[in-house]
Amino acid sequence: MNGKTDLEKDLHDEIIRFTAESTANRFPDSDCRYFDEPLVGFAAASDPLFDRYREIIGPHHQTPRELLERAFPGKRSGSGTVVCWILPISEATRKSNRKESLWPSREWALTRTFGEAFNNDLRRHLTDFLLAKGHRAVAPLLAEGWQTVETAEGLSSTWSERHAAFAAGLGTFSLNRGFISERGIAHRCGSVITDLIIPPSPRRYQHYAENCMLCRNGSCGACISRCPVGAITRFGHDKERCRIYGYETVVREVGERYGVTSPGCGLCQTGVPCETGIPL
Ligand code: SF4
Ligand code: SF4
Repeated sequence: MNGKTDLEKDLHDEIIRFTAESTANRFPDSDCRYFDEPLVGFAAASDPLFDRYREIIGPHHQTPRELLERAFPGKRSGSGTVVCWILPISEATRKSNRKESLWPSREWALTRTFGEAFNNDLRRHLTDFLLAKGHRAVAPLLAEGWQTVETAEGLSSTWSERHAAFAAGLGTFSLNRGFISERGIAHRCGSVITDLIIPPSPRRYQHYAENCMLCRNGSCGACISRCPVGAITRFGHDKERCRIYGYETVVREVGERYGVTSPGCGLCQTGVPCETGIPL
Protein backbone atom coordinates (compact mmCIF):
# COMPACT_ATOMS: atom_id res chain seq x y z
CA MET A 1 0.00 0.00 0.00
CA ASN A 2 3.02 2.30 -0.49
CA GLY A 3 2.10 5.83 -1.52
CA LYS A 4 -1.49 5.63 -0.25
CA THR A 5 -2.86 8.03 2.37
CA ASP A 6 -4.27 6.54 5.59
CA LEU A 7 -7.85 7.35 4.52
CA GLU A 8 -7.35 5.80 1.11
CA LYS A 9 -5.82 2.70 2.69
CA ASP A 10 -8.68 2.43 5.24
CA LEU A 11 -11.34 2.49 2.52
CA HIS A 12 -9.41 0.20 0.19
CA ASP A 13 -8.83 -2.34 2.98
CA GLU A 14 -12.45 -2.21 4.15
CA ILE A 15 -13.77 -2.99 0.65
CA ILE A 16 -11.33 -5.91 0.32
CA ARG A 17 -12.11 -7.21 3.82
CA PHE A 18 -15.88 -7.05 3.44
CA THR A 19 -15.75 -8.82 0.07
CA ALA A 20 -13.55 -11.58 1.49
CA GLU A 21 -15.56 -12.12 4.67
CA SER A 22 -19.21 -11.50 3.79
CA THR A 23 -21.31 -14.66 3.66
CA ALA A 24 -23.47 -12.88 1.05
CA ASN A 25 -20.51 -13.22 -1.35
CA ARG A 26 -21.01 -17.01 -1.44
CA PHE A 27 -23.04 -19.32 -3.66
CA PRO A 28 -26.06 -20.76 -1.79
CA ASP A 29 -24.91 -24.37 -2.17
CA SER A 30 -21.13 -24.10 -1.83
CA ASP A 31 -18.39 -22.04 -0.19
CA CYS A 32 -17.32 -20.60 -3.56
CA ARG A 33 -17.37 -16.83 -3.88
CA TYR A 34 -19.23 -14.83 -6.51
CA PHE A 35 -16.39 -12.32 -6.64
CA ASP A 36 -12.61 -12.28 -6.22
CA GLU A 37 -10.63 -9.48 -4.58
CA PRO A 38 -11.92 -6.09 -5.82
CA LEU A 39 -10.05 -3.30 -7.57
CA VAL A 40 -10.59 0.12 -5.95
CA GLY A 41 -10.25 3.60 -7.45
CA PHE A 42 -11.12 7.17 -6.49
CA ALA A 43 -12.41 10.10 -8.54
CA ALA A 44 -12.74 13.71 -7.39
CA ALA A 45 -16.44 14.53 -6.97
CA SER A 46 -15.69 17.89 -8.62
CA ASP A 47 -14.05 16.27 -11.68
CA PRO A 48 -15.42 18.14 -14.76
CA LEU A 49 -15.92 14.72 -16.39
CA PHE A 50 -19.09 14.30 -14.30
CA ASP A 51 -20.52 17.46 -15.91
CA ARG A 52 -19.57 16.16 -19.35
CA TYR A 53 -21.51 12.95 -18.63
CA ARG A 54 -24.68 15.04 -18.87
CA GLU A 55 -23.83 15.65 -22.53
CA ILE A 56 -22.54 12.13 -23.21
CA ILE A 57 -25.20 10.11 -21.32
CA GLY A 58 -28.01 12.68 -21.13
CA PRO A 59 -29.32 15.47 -18.92
CA HIS A 60 -30.92 12.91 -16.58
CA HIS A 61 -27.48 11.76 -15.35
CA GLN A 62 -26.71 13.23 -11.93
CA THR A 63 -23.47 14.71 -10.66
CA PRO A 64 -21.83 13.63 -7.37
CA ARG A 65 -22.61 17.03 -5.89
CA GLU A 66 -26.32 16.77 -6.71
CA LEU A 67 -26.51 13.30 -5.21
CA LEU A 68 -24.83 14.33 -1.96
CA GLU A 69 -26.96 17.48 -1.64
CA ARG A 70 -30.13 15.50 -2.26
CA ALA A 71 -29.14 12.92 0.38
CA PHE A 72 -28.18 15.64 2.89
CA PRO A 73 -30.55 18.57 2.26
CA GLY A 74 -29.42 21.98 3.41
CA LYS A 75 -25.71 21.15 3.21
CA ARG A 76 -23.77 22.42 0.23
CA SER A 77 -21.28 20.05 -1.36
CA GLY A 78 -18.22 21.35 -3.14
CA SER A 79 -15.52 18.75 -3.00
CA GLY A 80 -15.46 15.11 -2.09
CA THR A 81 -14.72 11.72 -3.58
CA VAL A 82 -16.44 9.03 -5.63
CA VAL A 83 -15.19 5.71 -4.28
CA CYS A 84 -15.45 3.03 -6.98
CA TRP A 85 -14.82 -0.70 -7.09
CA ILE A 86 -14.71 -3.55 -9.56
CA LEU A 87 -15.79 -7.01 -8.37
CA PRO A 88 -14.13 -9.57 -10.68
CA ILE A 89 -16.33 -12.61 -11.34
CA SER A 90 -14.74 -15.83 -10.08
CA GLU A 91 -12.80 -18.11 -12.39
CA ALA A 92 -15.19 -21.06 -11.92
CA THR A 93 -18.15 -18.92 -12.99
CA ARG A 94 -16.31 -17.48 -15.98
CA LYS A 95 -15.27 -20.98 -17.06
CA SER A 96 -18.83 -22.24 -16.82
CA ASN A 97 -20.12 -19.39 -18.99
CA ARG A 98 -17.35 -19.86 -21.55
CA LYS A 99 -18.84 -23.25 -22.46
CA GLU A 100 -22.25 -21.77 -23.19
CA SER A 101 -23.41 -20.42 -26.53
CA LEU A 102 -27.13 -19.70 -26.02
CA TRP A 103 -28.10 -19.26 -22.35
CA PRO A 104 -25.90 -18.09 -19.50
CA SER A 105 -24.59 -20.78 -17.13
CA ARG A 106 -26.36 -21.26 -13.81
CA GLU A 107 -23.31 -19.82 -11.99
CA TRP A 108 -23.37 -16.71 -14.17
CA ALA A 109 -27.11 -16.22 -13.62
CA LEU A 110 -26.76 -16.63 -9.84
CA THR A 111 -23.89 -14.14 -9.80
CA ARG A 112 -25.95 -11.61 -11.75
CA THR A 113 -28.85 -11.92 -9.29
CA PHE A 114 -27.38 -12.80 -5.87
CA GLY A 115 -23.88 -11.46 -6.50
CA GLU A 116 -25.45 -8.11 -7.30
CA ALA A 117 -27.41 -8.39 -4.02
CA PHE A 118 -24.01 -8.72 -2.30
CA ASN A 119 -22.84 -5.66 -4.27
CA ASN A 120 -25.77 -3.77 -2.73
CA ASP A 121 -24.64 -4.99 0.72
CA LEU A 122 -21.20 -3.58 -0.05
CA ARG A 123 -22.73 -0.25 -1.12
CA ARG A 124 -24.68 -0.09 2.17
CA HIS A 125 -21.72 -1.24 4.25
CA LEU A 126 -19.34 1.35 2.83
CA THR A 127 -21.93 4.10 3.27
CA ASP A 128 -22.37 3.12 6.95
CA PHE A 129 -18.59 2.83 7.40
CA LEU A 130 -18.12 6.43 6.21
CA LEU A 131 -21.12 7.77 8.17
CA ALA A 132 -19.74 6.16 11.36
CA LYS A 133 -16.50 8.09 10.82
CA GLY A 134 -18.45 11.37 10.58
CA HIS A 135 -18.49 11.80 6.81
CA ARG A 136 -21.48 12.26 4.55
CA ALA A 137 -21.93 9.32 2.18
CA VAL A 138 -24.48 8.03 -0.31
CA ALA A 139 -24.60 5.07 -2.69
CA PRO A 140 -26.11 6.48 -5.92
CA LEU A 141 -27.81 3.23 -6.94
CA LEU A 142 -29.56 2.95 -3.56
CA ALA A 143 -30.32 6.66 -3.20
CA GLU A 144 -33.81 8.10 -3.21
CA GLY A 145 -34.60 9.33 -6.70
CA TRP A 146 -32.46 6.80 -8.57
CA GLN A 147 -34.36 5.73 -11.66
CA THR A 148 -34.08 4.50 -15.20
CA VAL A 149 -35.24 6.62 -18.13
CA GLU A 150 -36.01 5.84 -21.77
CA THR A 151 -33.55 7.34 -24.23
CA ALA A 152 -33.14 7.01 -27.99
CA GLU A 153 -30.44 4.39 -27.31
CA GLY A 154 -32.49 2.37 -24.81
CA LEU A 155 -32.84 2.40 -21.03
CA SER A 156 -30.42 4.61 -19.14
CA SER A 157 -30.17 5.47 -15.45
CA THR A 158 -29.51 8.54 -13.35
CA TRP A 159 -26.08 7.18 -12.32
CA SER A 160 -23.73 4.99 -14.33
CA GLU A 161 -21.38 2.85 -12.23
CA ARG A 162 -19.17 2.22 -15.26
CA HIS A 163 -18.78 5.91 -16.07
CA ALA A 164 -17.84 6.51 -12.43
CA ALA A 165 -15.28 3.68 -12.66
CA PHE A 166 -13.85 5.29 -15.83
CA ALA A 167 -13.46 8.58 -13.96
CA ALA A 168 -11.73 6.70 -11.12
CA GLY A 169 -9.07 5.29 -13.44
CA LEU A 170 -10.32 1.70 -13.26
CA GLY A 171 -10.62 1.01 -17.01
CA THR A 172 -12.31 1.92 -20.28
CA PHE A 173 -15.39 1.01 -22.31
CA SER A 174 -15.49 -1.55 -25.12
CA LEU A 175 -17.21 -2.46 -28.36
CA ASN A 176 -19.89 -4.49 -26.55
CA ARG A 177 -20.59 -1.61 -24.12
CA GLY A 178 -18.79 -3.42 -21.32
CA PHE A 179 -15.99 -2.04 -19.18
CA ILE A 180 -12.49 -3.49 -19.45
CA SER A 181 -10.48 -3.18 -16.23
CA GLU A 182 -7.07 -4.63 -15.34
CA ARG A 183 -9.03 -7.71 -14.26
CA GLY A 184 -10.94 -7.84 -17.53
CA ILE A 185 -14.53 -7.30 -18.58
CA ALA A 186 -16.29 -9.99 -16.48
CA HIS A 187 -17.21 -8.15 -13.29
CA ARG A 188 -19.78 -6.03 -11.50
CA CYS A 189 -18.96 -2.53 -10.32
CA GLY A 190 -20.20 -0.14 -7.67
CA SER A 191 -19.64 3.23 -6.05
CA VAL A 192 -20.30 5.45 -3.04
CA ILE A 193 -20.00 9.25 -2.96
CA THR A 194 -18.61 10.96 0.14
CA ASP A 195 -17.51 14.44 1.23
CA LEU A 196 -14.25 12.87 2.43
CA ILE A 197 -11.38 14.08 0.25
CA ILE A 198 -9.02 11.43 -1.12
CA PRO A 199 -6.45 12.02 -3.91
CA PRO A 200 -7.95 10.86 -7.23
CA SER A 201 -6.51 7.75 -8.89
CA PRO A 202 -4.61 8.41 -12.13
CA ARG A 203 -6.38 7.70 -15.43
CA ARG A 204 -3.76 5.84 -17.43
CA TYR A 205 -5.64 6.03 -20.74
CA GLN A 206 -6.19 8.60 -23.46
CA HIS A 207 -9.31 7.24 -25.17
CA TYR A 208 -12.64 6.18 -23.69
CA ALA A 209 -12.40 2.69 -25.26
CA GLU A 210 -8.63 2.22 -25.31
CA ASN A 211 -8.65 -1.15 -23.51
CA CYS A 212 -10.77 -2.77 -26.26
CA MET A 213 -8.63 -4.16 -29.08
CA LEU A 214 -11.15 -3.42 -31.81
CA CYS A 215 -11.58 0.18 -30.67
CA ARG A 216 -7.79 0.52 -30.32
CA ASN A 217 -6.54 -0.92 -33.59
CA GLY A 218 -9.40 -2.61 -35.42
CA SER A 219 -8.36 -6.14 -34.47
CA CYS A 220 -10.37 -8.69 -32.44
CA GLY A 221 -14.17 -8.54 -32.60
CA ALA A 222 -14.41 -11.88 -30.75
CA CYS A 223 -17.45 -10.69 -28.78
CA ILE A 224 -19.41 -10.26 -32.03
CA SER A 225 -19.67 -13.99 -32.66
CA ARG A 226 -20.31 -14.76 -28.97
CA CYS A 227 -23.62 -12.85 -29.03
CA PRO A 228 -26.54 -15.20 -29.75
CA VAL A 229 -28.84 -12.42 -30.96
CA GLY A 230 -26.52 -10.30 -33.12
CA ALA A 231 -26.55 -7.35 -30.74
CA ILE A 232 -22.86 -6.56 -31.46
CA THR A 233 -21.37 -5.54 -34.81
CA ARG A 234 -18.04 -3.93 -35.67
CA PHE A 235 -19.89 -0.61 -35.47
CA GLY A 236 -21.24 -0.98 -31.95
CA HIS A 237 -23.76 -2.52 -29.59
CA ASP A 238 -27.55 -2.60 -29.80
CA LYS A 239 -28.45 -1.87 -26.20
CA GLU A 240 -32.16 -2.59 -26.53
CA ARG A 241 -31.69 -5.92 -28.31
CA CYS A 242 -29.23 -6.95 -25.59
CA ARG A 243 -31.62 -5.91 -22.80
CA ILE A 244 -34.56 -7.78 -24.29
CA TYR A 245 -32.46 -10.93 -24.57
CA GLY A 246 -30.82 -10.83 -21.13
CA TYR A 247 -33.78 -9.57 -19.13
CA GLU A 248 -36.77 -11.01 -21.00
CA THR A 249 -35.87 -13.99 -23.22
CA VAL A 250 -33.31 -15.54 -20.86
CA VAL A 251 -35.60 -14.99 -17.85
CA ARG A 252 -38.42 -16.78 -19.67
CA GLU A 253 -36.23 -19.69 -20.78
CA VAL A 254 -34.01 -20.43 -17.77
CA GLY A 255 -35.11 -18.08 -14.94
CA GLU A 256 -37.34 -20.64 -13.22
CA ARG A 257 -34.86 -23.52 -13.66
CA TYR A 258 -32.07 -21.45 -12.11
CA GLY A 259 -34.34 -19.79 -9.52
CA VAL A 260 -33.39 -16.24 -10.54
CA THR A 261 -35.20 -13.20 -11.88
CA SER A 262 -32.26 -11.27 -13.41
CA PRO A 263 -29.91 -13.80 -15.03
CA GLY A 264 -28.38 -11.43 -17.60
CA CYS A 265 -26.37 -13.08 -20.36
CA GLY A 266 -22.66 -12.21 -20.33
CA LEU A 267 -21.72 -14.54 -23.19
CA CYS A 268 -19.76 -11.68 -24.79
CA GLN A 269 -17.79 -11.24 -21.55
CA THR A 270 -16.48 -14.81 -21.44
CA GLY A 271 -14.48 -16.77 -23.98
CA VAL A 272 -13.07 -13.48 -25.31
CA PRO A 273 -9.53 -12.00 -25.13
CA CYS A 274 -10.62 -9.30 -22.65
CA GLU A 275 -12.28 -11.74 -20.23
CA THR A 276 -9.60 -11.50 -17.51
CA GLY A 277 -7.44 -8.51 -18.41
CA ILE A 278 -6.60 -5.78 -20.90
CA PRO A 279 -5.85 -7.61 -24.16
CA LEU A 280 -2.56 -6.84 -25.85
S1 SF4 B 1 -13.79 -9.25 -27.34
FE1 SF4 B 1 -12.34 -7.92 -28.42
S2 SF4 B 1 -13.63 -6.46 -29.56
FE2 SF4 B 1 -14.92 -7.43 -28.00
S3 SF4 B 1 -14.81 -6.06 -26.23
FE3 SF4 B 1 -13.21 -7.60 -25.94
S4 SF4 B 1 -11.36 -6.69 -26.84
FE4 SF4 B 1 -13.11 -5.51 -27.59
S1 SF4 C 1 -24.80 -9.60 -22.97
FE1 SF4 C 1 -25.52 -11.28 -24.31
S2 SF4 C 1 -27.14 -10.36 -25.57
FE2 SF4 C 1 -25.97 -8.68 -24.68
S3 SF4 C 1 -24.43 -8.19 -26.23
FE3 SF4 C 1 -23.46 -9.63 -24.80
S4 SF4 C 1 -23.82 -11.64 -25.70
FE4 SF4 C 1 -25.23 -10.22 -26.72
